[in-house]
Order: sequence, then structure tokens, then C-alpha cells
Amino acid sequence: MALTHNLGFPRIGTRRELKFALEDYWKQNTNTDELLATAKSLREQNWQTQVDLDLAPVGDFSLYDHVLDMSFTLGHLPERVQGLKGSELDHYFRVARGRSPADCGCSGVAAGEMTKWFDTNYHYIVPEVSEDTVFSLNSQRLVDQIAEARSAGVTPKPVIIGPVTYLWLCKARDGYQRLELLEHLLPVYGQLLDQLADLGVDWVQVDEPILVTELDADWKLAFETAYHQLKSSRAKLLLTTYFGTLGENLQQACKLPVAGLHVDAVRGCQEVNAVVDWLPPHKVLSLGVINGRNIWKTDLGALLEWLTPIHDKLGDRLWLAPSCSLLHVPVDLEPETELDPEVRSWLAFATQKLDELRVLRIALNEGTDAVAAPLADNARAIARRRNSTRVHNPTVKQQVQGITPELGERQSPYPVRAEQQAVALKLPRYPTTTIGSFPQTTGIRKTRLAWRKQEISRELYVTTMKAEIERAVREQEKLGLDVLVHGEAERNDMVEYFGEQLEGYLFTRFGWVQSYGSRCVKPPILYGDIQRPGPMTVEWIAYARSLTDKPLKGMLTGPVTILNWSFVRDDQPRRDTAFQLALAIRQEVLDLEAAGVNIIQIDEAALREGLPLRRSQWQEYLDWAVDAFRITANGVSDTTQIHTHMCYSEFNDIIKDIARMDADVITIETSRSAMELLDVFEEFHYPNEIGPGVYDIHSPNIPSREQIVTLMSKAAERVPAERLWINPDCGLKTRQWEEVIPALENMVAAARELREAAG
Ligand code: GLN
Ligand code: ZN
Repeated sequence: MALTHNLGFPRIGTRRELKFALEDYWKQNTNTDELLATAKSLREQNWQTQVDLDLAPVGDFSLYDHVLDMSFTLGHLPERVQGLKGSELDHYFRVARGRSPADCGCSGVAAGEMTKWFDTNYHYIVPEVSEDTVFSLNSQRLVDQIAEARSAGVTPKPVIIGPVTYLWLCKARDGYQRLELLEHLLPVYGQLLDQLADLGVDWVQVDEPILVTELDADWKLAFETAYHQLKSSRAKLLLTTYFGTLGENLQQACKLPVAGLHVDAVRGCQEVNAVVDWLPPHKVLSLGVINGRNIWKTDLGALLEWLTPIHDKLGDRLWLAPSCSLLHVPVDLEPETELDPEVRSWLAFATQKLDELRVLRIALNEGTDAVAAPLADNARAIARRRNSTRVHNPTVKQQVQGITPELGERQSPYPVRAEQQAVALKLPRYPTTTIGSFPQTTGIRKTRLAWRKQEISRELYVTTMKAEIERAVREQEKLGLDVLVHGEAERNDMVEYFGEQLEGYLFTRFGWVQSYGSRCVKPPILYGDIQRPGPMTVEWIAYARSLTDKPLKGMLTGPVTILNWSFVRDDQPRRDTAFQLALAIRQEVLDLEAAGVNIIQIDEAALREGLPLRRSQWQEYLDWAVDAFRITANGVSDTTQIHTHMCYSEFNDIIKDIARMDADVITIETSRSAMELLDVFEEFHYPNEIGPGVYDIHSPNIPSREQIVTLMSKAAERVPAERLWINPDCGLKTRQWEEVIPALENMVAAARELREAAG
């Protein structure tokens, strides 16, 4: 009999109950008991949803972040909160976000650094270690929740982050080798596992997702050390990997002395047979067959066909699960009553994915007749999606097939273009510009919302937005900026704005996924071939251009960013989807150019986020991602200046690909790194123009003219001054006009000073 289990369930709640409970608590509208009661009821609901499983995860729920929870379980808090008074929960929120409600009035502490959880859009709090770090067991959270789970009627399987992955996630100060802490960490894990065994827990899920990455010899050795030491514990360990293939770590993962292994059988489908061969005969194999990273229904018929021989071989030793925690998909499709019914029938959110698991288990254990109806429903939905004309548009497919290398080529190389652009644009040295958005005032948001709810006429909406655009243009003229923008008042979100106007996209009402803490995102669903029915931005940008004699830059979101911030199709390679998006945005670029907009910025804020977990696969991704950008950008004439923007500061390992994008101007985030990150542009002899950000838009601080001059002088030591622009780090939409105006005044004044100094 194949067992079913789950690796983790979304904790935010169907209606983002956790978000609202947290934010109320932080604002001190509620007290600790109320917050904990909401958390408890969410856990209970989650277990009710999972009651059919043979084992349900416990400890996957978190008030902020599961890595932070693990740090607390290991008694591992940053020094700066250790002396502070307050409860454990106060400490918890101090590490998470710099303050707890108990700290009202005082300044709080530095929040823990956050970074992306593998290749997902979830962010965890990075544990900080040094050679003085000590660990001590604090298992109360798990102990309490095991009892809760039992009273909810499920068999608990505690979920913890394994010791090797935990250390890998840590950041060490002063070049300290964090693996040296392993020997101090393992006894605490040993105690924890024994305690769990004492509570009658049979299985513990030990997450070691770094086994799907390329590991150095010392990390591989750490796995041996860790699991040989932990094998004496009395709980059975399910060594759990996800987000990719085991690759060269496969044999090691199979042989480590644990009772079971979970593998991602979606992304690692092709290596499952090798795992079956290598796995010692006493071990359980858990196959993650339901995709925990997207929102599509599983093709249960095809899956059963593939699973049956494996089940025949493994029998009881086969377990079934989603590929990874369901944290990365929305909770429930049920409330999406307004969704296009046809596309809706192709979708499965977390709750529906567990239903699929149940059907699979019955089909394998009792035969397909026992679940004939749900299997037939599933087969129908899969067949409809496969053949739907909503998904497949022969014209689009033909256009993608017709892509030739020439489509990605500018007419002339950069030096030739640069001369022509200089003549056409007549910009001064150190031209000043912004990244696109201006403050999104309450007025703007209200108008957009009213228009969305159809409470106001299109006419009123357009006049109001145009008034905002005019305001932005006039402010920029007053400031004396050299290249103006329209200000993006009409955009709620840089991906959603385009997705809503493209065919092949769909938007949910409640399809939230946790990004970090109380923050959630609602990724749009790209379900079909992408077509642009008509211009998407020209009306606004052309209007802005008509208002001024100054050069005006049009703003678009690039294909790779749109792709990386959406749920995308699983029936074609990501590359093909990127090319479809590229062709659609290319048309927009050409329409803008035809409307007289001769500076066009194509934002690729999320290009880096798409890098695969394994370095050996980076180049393949970068090749098509850069091609997609070039297809989008390069249909314009030489006198049209193409800008791109990236809001991060790590270019060292991808500089040659950034250069291959061949944008005439790239604007990047640099203000916080004091221009050091330009070193790589210098070493590489990056040939085109660069706008290193001089205004940290994440901070309310206003940079002074002197600070900006200093930053730009540093920049000029690395990049020839004639190729430098002056601009903020990123868009200004989250800031107030009162902050933006003085900051930009200083920026413009700094540019003047630099020009005078240069003669
Ligand atoms: N053009 C966008 C803006 O200014 C860019 C945002 C981003 O890079 N995240 O808001
Ligand atoms: Zn940005």
C-alpha cells in the first residue's frame, strides 16, 4: 500500500488571515493571545484539509518564516536581541523585522537579512553565525504542535530543516567557515530527534534541499558526518530534497543512513529510476509527483501509468507527496468563482493538489475503478487544455518559429549608434533621469481602484491619470532633469499591467502566495500563447511626450521579468514562453518608436532571479533570456536609445551576459555599495553607458548633493565619465513627493557641479 503525505501547507490562510492577524498585532490593535489564537485556528484548518493523508506535516506553519523558526528551535538568536527584555515572541519579531510591539517608541534593532529561498520567490531570514555561536535545544513549539495535530486527528510528521542545509543557509561573519559549527549543531539535532521519538513520533521529515545543488567536497562530507552521527537517534528520518535533480549527489543521497528519501519527481522525473536502483531495499522512497511549484492539474492518467511499475517494484516502500512544500502555491481554488470557467477547470491550488494525491493513492492501492469518476474528470480537463484554442494560437507559434538571429540585432554596433543618438538627443554630460515611476499617491490609487471596480467612467479615469502624468512631467521640468518619464501612474504593478492586456493571461482574486512574513504576491497565470491585441502603453507615453520639448523615455517591462514573476505554462519550455512575450513587447517597442518616443526603457528587474540552482545550467538560461531581451529591444533604428534597468547589485558572475544584452544604457542599484560593484564593469571594459543609482529609494533618507558628487566621482574612476548617467537606484513609486523633490534637486545640482568641474 502506497502511503501519502505532505511536505508543508501554505500558512497564510485562504483569505490571508495570517497577514491581517500579524499586521493588527504589530499595530497593537490585538494582543498576543489573539494572534496566537488565529495561528492555532489556521493550523487546525490546515490539518483538517490534510486529514486524509497518512502523515501530515507539523512545524511547517510559521508566524513569519520557517528558517527563523528553526533558528529558535536551535536556540540560535543574533547577539543583538539576546539581552533585550520581553517574551520569546518579542525576540522573534525583533529578528524578523527589527521590532516587536513591545518596543513601541524606541528605535528597535537591525532586522535579520532576508534572501530568496532557493529559486522561489519566498524570502527567509538568514541565520547569522560566528565562531562564538552556540546552540541549545528549544523544542516547545514542535512539542505543542504535535499535541495539537493529534487532537486534530492527524498523524504528525514533524518537519525540520536538516543540519547541513541549515548551516548552508547561515551567513558567517569575517570569513568564518560555518561548517566548523557542525560538530556543535549535531548534538542539538540528536536531542531534538530523541525528544520527538519520546513523544511517539514515528517519522521526521528532515529537509536537505541543498542536495539538488552542486556541492563542494566539504559539504558532501558534512552530509556523511551529520547522518552517521544522527543515525543513532530513535526517530525515523525522511531525508527530503526538492526543487530539482540530485544529479551527481544521487548515490550519496540514496546511501546516507536514514530510513527514507524524498525526491522531487517532477523536476527530477528522469532520475527516479536511478534512485529506485540505488536505494537500499530497506528504505522508503517518497516520490514528489504533484508539482508544488505551479498551479496546473496533474495528468493523473499519465502519472499512474508511469507509477504503476514503480509501485509494483516498491510496494509498501513507495510514498507519494507533492514535489515540495505547497507553500509556493495559492491555498484553494474554491473561492475563485469569477475565474474563466474553462481555464479554472485546468487548475489545482494547494487544496486541490491534496485531492489529486488522494485519488492517486486509491488508484494505486485499490485499482482505478475505485476512483473512476475523478480520473475521468481529470482526463477530460487535461485533454481540453491540451487541445484548447485558448491555449494554442497557430499564428503565435509560427511567429516564434520564424524568429531569426537578425531579429535580435541592432542595425549598427553600439559606438555607431551612440554617435547618432548623441546628435539626435543632444544630452549634456552626466545626463540625469529616473527609473520610471513617481510617487503613487492615495489619489492615484483610489482612482485606479474606482476604475477597476467600474465605479467611474473611462473618461474620468483617463482625465485623472493624464492630470497625474502632467504633474509628473511639470515637476521633472522644474527639477531640470534631462530625460523625463511619464511616471507610471496608470500601473498597479509592472507585470500585472502588461499581463492584463495580453491575451493568454489570467488573474485570480485570492491566489496569494507568501513572499515573506505578512507579505504576499498574487502571480498572474500565463496559460496560453501570448498575443498583444493592441498597444498597451502608447496612449499614456505619447501624451506625456506631447507635453514637453524635453526628451521623454517610454517604460516597458521586459519578457524575462514578466515570465519570472508569473505562474507559467508547463506544456512548453520557459524559453518558448519568453520568446512569445518578447515578440509581444517588441511590437510595443516599435509602436512607441513610431509614436515618436526615441528613448525606450525595458525593465528586466527579475532577470537574475531566473538563474537555475545549478551553475552548470546558468548559461543555457542566460542565453535564451538575453536573446529574449534582444528580440524585444533591437527592432528599433539606431537613433532610438534603448535603456534597461535591473534592481540588484550582483553582476560579477553574469557581466558578459549583461553586456550581450547590448542596451545603450543600463541603470542599476549601486548607492548602498558605494560604487564598488562598478569594479566588475571596469574590469570587463563594459562598453555601453551606465547609470549607477545614487539615491537609495528603499530609505526615507535624502541624499545630499555632496554625497551624490562623491558617489559619481567614484563611479568616474571606474567608468569613463562620458558614459555615465545619474539616476536613483529604482522607481520612486513607494516614496512621497516631499522626499523625491529634494532628492532629485540634489541629484540635478550634483550633475551641474560635475559638469562644471569637467569644464
Ligand atoms: N520602471 C519601474 C519603476 O520605476 C521599475 C521597477 C523595478 O525595477 N522594480 O517602478
Ligand atoms: Zn528597480
